[in-house]
This record gives sequence, C-alpha cells and structure tokens, in this order.
Amino acid sequence: MSRMHVDQGTCLLCGVCLDSCPYDALAIKDEQLLFTEECRLCQACITACPQGAISLVQEIGAPQREEPAAGGGGVLVFVEQRHSRLQPVSFEMIGKGLELAQALRQPLACVLIGRQMRDQADELLWYGVDRVYCYDHPALKDYRVEPYTAAVCAVAAMMRPEIILVGATAVGRSLAPRVATRLRTGLTADCTSLHIDEQGQLVQTRPAFGGNVMASILTPHHRPQMATVRYKVMAAAQRQDRRRGEVINCKLADADLVSAVNVLETVRRTQTGSITEAEVIVAMGRGVASKQGLALVRQLARHLDGAVACSRPLVEQGLFTHMQQVGLSGRTVRPKLYIACGISGAVQHVAGMSGAETIVAINSDVNAPIFDVAHIAVVGDAYQVLPELLQLFDAKTTPADSLSEVDM
Ligand SMILES: Cc1cc2nc3c(=O)[nH]c(=O)nc-3n(C[C@H](O)[C@H](O)[C@H](O)COP(=O)(O)OP(=O)(O)OC[C@H]3O[C@@H](n4cnc5c(N)ncnc54)[C@H](O)[C@@H]3O)c2cc1C
Repeated sequence: MSRMHVDQGTCLLCGVCLDSCPYDALAIKDEQLLFTEECRLCQACITACPQGAISLVQEIGAPQREEPAAGGGGVLVFVEQRHSRLQPVSFEMIGKGLELAQALRQPLACVLIGRQMRDQADELLWYGVDRVYCYDHPALKDYRVEPYTAAVCAVAAMMRPEIILVGATAVGRSLAPRVATRLRTGLTADCTSLHIDEQGQLVQTRPAFGGNVMASILTPHHRPQMATVRYKVMAAAQRQDRRRGEVINCKLADADLVSAVNVLETVRRTQTGSITEAEVIVAMGRGVASKQGLALVRQLARHLDGAVACSRPLVEQGLFTHMQQVGLSGRTVRPKLYIACGISGAVQHVAGMSGAETIVAINSDVNAPIFDVAHIAVVGDAYQVLPELLQLFDAKTTPADSLSEVDM
C-alpha cells in the first residue's frame, strides 16, 4: 500500500504544502507536519515542498489492495442526467449494479449530480437502490469534469465501494478515467459483460484486439474496481412496486465547484433518426453500397418506421456519419428488428448489433458470417430481395423513392 511520508527532520513547517493541497489533507500539530484521512495521494505536496521533505512510500510486502471499511463497500453507480432527465444508460447500470451487489451481498448506491435533482433522486429509490448520494447545486447543472469528479470521489471516500459503474457515454468516458486516476485504481472501458467470480472479484469482459478476442480483466490489487459499460448492452432495471432506501443530500466545498470550463449555452441535438433509440433498424453494408441500394434501404426503413444504419466502410466512404455506424467503433443497438442488407457480419459489426431481438440478414453469400447470428437468413441478391420485400407492403403507403434524390 502507498502512503505519504514526511521527513520531520528536513521539514521546516513553512506551510507551502498546506496551500498546495487540493483536499486540505495536511495539518501542523505539535510542530509536526501530518497527513489526515482526506489525503488522496495526489502528490501535489511533493511537488510544492521546497525542502523535498515529503515522499510517497510503498510498503513492500503489504498488499496494494485496500480492504473496504467495515460496514462499507458496496456497488456505486454514477447516474447520468441531461437537462435534469435521468439517462436510460443509468438504469442499465442500476440493473447490472443490483445483480453485482446481490452476488457480493453488499448495498447498491447511486451518485446523482445536477441542479434541482430531488425528484429524480427519489425516483431512483423505486429501482431497488439502497442509497442515493445527491449533489444538488446550480453550479452542477451541466456536466463539468472537475466538480463531477470531486463529487464521485467524495462519495467513494465515504462508502469505499468495491465497484464503481459508469455508462460509456461521452460524459462517462470523460469522467471515469479521472475518477480512477484520483482513486488510484484501474478502469476497464467499454465492458460488454460483468460478473462476480468465486473469489468475489469483478470479471470485466470487453472486446480486445479489434474485437477478435473477448478479454476478461480483473483488478485484483486495487479498490474500487471500475468499469464503463456501453449503452444498450445490459438489461435495464425495472421500476418496482415498492420504494426503498434513502436519499443522502451531499455538498461540495466551494473550491470543488470551480471548473476551467464555462458552459455558455447548451443546444439540444435532434433525436430524429437516432439509431440507439430505434426499434427497427435497416442496416446497409458494402454489398449494397450504391444509389439504388441506398434508395431501397431507405424505402424499407420508411415502411417499417425505422432508422437507417450502416457498417463502417460506408462511413469511411463518406456515405453516412459515424452516428449511424453500428459496431465496435460505432454504436451498440438493441432494436426489436435489425435487417442487415449486404453486410458480411465481421466480429466488429456483430459486436454492435447481436443484442437485437430479431435479426434478418440478406446476403448473396451463403457462407457469410452474418448468418451465424441471424434469426432469419435470406440468401440472395439484395437488389432482387429488397424490391420483392417492398412489394409486400401496401403500395399506397409511400411512393417509391426517386433514385435521383440520393446524392452519392
Ligand atoms: C478496430 C476495428 C474496428 C471496427 N469497427 C467496426 C464497426 O464498428 N462497425 C463495422 O461495421 N465494422 C467495423 N470494422 C470493420 C469490419 O472489420 C469489417 O471490415 C466491416 O464490418 C465490413 O463491412 P461490410 O460487411 O459492409 O462489408 P464486407 O465485409 O465487404 O461485406 C459485404 C457483404 O455483402 C455481401 N454482398 C455483396 N453483394 C451483395 C448483394 N448484391 N446482395 C446481398 N449481399 C451482397 C457479400 O457477400 C459480403 O458478405 C472495424 C474494424 C476494425 C479493425
């Protein structure tokens, strides 16, 4: 285990380190410089000390893992809000958090940060959460990494969780590494599966080497074990008929509310055509990457009231934006119906859509790997299959797309 060490003989008690410490973790008592429990080992004092009297020491032979405090531990979920609305990814984290907490026989807590969050904090208690740590302050309205990191770390210091889960969203991907660094622990990003092994450790599974292998990662020597998890990968927690648990209102010190980022304005992005929320997706691959293919795919999506998505090569060709790419380096989707047209089924693509309820694949190659995950396999030329499929829909609903409107 690491700890801070003061060479009391060298220390002049000048107080420079006291001013440098962001956690007020240093005190002078009985003419000695001491570290309090607030110390996070950030080492700012080492840099500041003009005498070189402070050092970080590693106790050789001692286990690096910090045991959770008696009665503490548990699983902590960072609940994301945007414009004061709880984000669906957080309910997926809570669903998984409940399962992990039950396996560990420990409580499940959430940390919720924002402005006027009281109702949302109460709402979380309907999902089986034992405690909600709620930071409610005008300065926390919008996500800013410094105060949010301070809040999550403060909760971690209070409850000493075994596990912290964060959604692998833009916010989560910014927040989690900072928290992990501050807590001096590891972080597994973009997990697709989490479970507790026989030793009570969190097994964090994620695709590695371009999705060719699934890596199972452990954090044996440090706590908490931290993971970010992709949206639409875990099953969301269900609202229960009984409310339980408690909300704990927390406050950050004024110094912790300060950020280098000033949010001047937030502009809502239109959700139209968002593939992560769509219940039906018609996805287009290189096999149908043509004007005609795009028109057919769009027309089918329109008939089914669905969204159009694509495989990566089509983004690389500039035909679609990254927001429409499904797969390992794109979005993970879980629609009710996923129709893959002219997509081979590379592991990197399948990683993003295998959770779909029903997968229909249209491919001219009977050996295409997409058929390994498809529930309905249509072997054939998509340029023949799609028009035939479209004919099955009521011809009156939408006139056929004009090919000339497609700019490729
Ligand atoms: C690190 C890394 C990350 C990646 N991330 C992603 C990702 O997020 N998403 C992603 O999609 N890819 C990703 N890829 C790329 C991935 O490996 C594949 O190259 C890609 O998915 C292939 O796209 P495709 O299936 O459209 O094209 P192809 O592999 O070229 O397949 C085209 C398919 O169309 C079929 N076909 C051809 N003509 C017709 C026709 N007329 N009718 C019906 N079928 C036809 C062919 O039989 C073939 O199976 C990633 C790769 C790497 C290395």
